[in-house]
Amino acid sequence: MADRDRVIVVGGGPVGYTTAALLAQANIPFTLLEAGHRVADEPRAGTIHPPTLELVASIGAIDAFLDRGFRVENYRYFDRTQGLIANFDLSVLGDLTPYPFRLMLEQHKVCFIMQELLAQQSSPMDIRLDHEVTRVEQTDDGVRVVAATPQGEQVIDGRWVIGCDGGRSRVRKSMTVDFDGFTYPERFLILSTPYDFGPHGYAFTNYIADPEEWFALFKVPGPDGSGLWRVVSPVDPELPEDKVFADDAVQARIQRFRPLAAGYEIVHRNIYNVHQRVASSFRQGRVLIAGDAAHINNPLGGMGMNFGIHDAFNLVEKLAMVWRGDADDDLLDVYDRQRRTVAQEYLQRQTIENKNNIEQKDPKEREKFYDSLRATVADPEALVTYLRRVTMMEGFARAAAIT
Ligand SMILES: Cc1cc2nc3c(=O)[nH]c(=O)nc-3n(C[C@H](O)[C@H](O)[C@H](O)COP(=O)(O)OP(=O)(O)OC[C@H]3O[C@@H](n4cnc5c(N)ncnc54)[C@H](O)[C@@H]3O)c2cc1C
Repeated sequence: MADRDRVIVVGGGPVGYTTAALLAQANIPFTLLEAGHRVADEPRAGTIHPPTLELVASIGAIDAFLDRGFRVENYRYFDRTQGLIANFDLSVLGDLTPYPFRLMLEQHKVCFIMQELLAQQSSPMDIRLDHEVTRVEQTDDGVRVVAATPQGEQVIDGRWVIGCDGGRSRVRKSMTVDFDGFTYPERFLILSTPYDFGPHGYAFTNYIADPEEWFALFKVPGPDGSGLWRVVSPVDPELPEDKVFADDAVQARIQRFRPLAAGYEIVHRNIYNVHQRVASSFRQGRVLIAGDAAHINNPLGGMGMNFGIHDAFNLVEKLAMVWRGDADDDLLDVYDRQRRTVAQEYLQRQTIENKNNIEQKDPKEREKFYDSLRATVADPEALVTYLRRVTMMEGFARAAAIT
């Protein structure tokens, strides 16, 4: 191949590695450029929804996902004062998907599984770490990407570039697109502990609503697969980070959630800014964006990475047709329309709603919401409709219907 007969993937997060694995399976040469020198393993995504599992099954990766993840067959919604409000049994989706559960698996392990898929492929590929993209330019028939590396500036030419370089995407900034939306004033703190909350009536996924200090509680496999619980809660924007992370402050916070005389072992403490934004276009000529580069949202509901993986499958299927000359490049505008529409209609709407509900300050609205959850779990048809939406099945189907 001529050096420039390749796709350049910018970013080696879960969406970048999924994109790379799909390009390799389609026999399309690619170069992946990643700013870091390894896969980032801070605690971010941990929840994988049924449509994503169906997609990874289609590329031969489902056994690795299921072997390494924890299945969540039911998740629970609590009020911090009243206790359990609703238990959602995902097995009711059994007629609609072979994977009627959420899978808990950390996002860096998704990257590792995609790397394993890449290792099985013989198509031309090239993964360059410590390559931070600083500039993207395009001509009629190609793209030129400039990266800062420890050896100095490198220029990489290709036919197409796919920016999977996260919320601050340099690729997106090279396009003339807006990234409208908003940033929440508060940040989210994640504390990880090996303490087992299971015997206290918690499922592997729990949302605990409260007008002042809500919590979300998840169990992920952790480094050795034996389980690590993540406790997520909002942080006062005025509090400086050193105060948030101080030992007594993190103990006090987690003890407020559930008192424990012996104290908690805290193995990680991480804090994140939280945004709701969607790019005004996911394509400009030969430059495409996917994942957080194209849309960001709060993590309640566990949707951002899943949505980005759906972007990757949608995009590479179309790009492969264009690459082989089986379709005109207008097909890539369909990618933009399909994914951007559902990013607005489902991803943004659902995650904003999730945050409003978990922190609802109006007691009447809060009770109304709880009543709606109780009514939903009591009505089998309503339950399936609701779970199709929150497990991303509805949005996934809606995207496919957009032309
Ligand atoms: C606390 C938290 C919990 C979450 N939980 C969930 C969940 O349960 N389920 C879910 O679906 N989503 C969840 N998310 C969202 C999820 O983490 C993101 O949607 C996901 O990481 C997006 O993947 P990505 O590959 O698009 O971007 P990223 O994971 O941000 O990866 C981008 C990559 O690009 C690299 N990069 C950046 N700039 C450059 C550059 N200029 N040149 C080269 N490389 C560059 C970065 O180093 C990085 O490796 C959560 C997020 C947070 C913060």
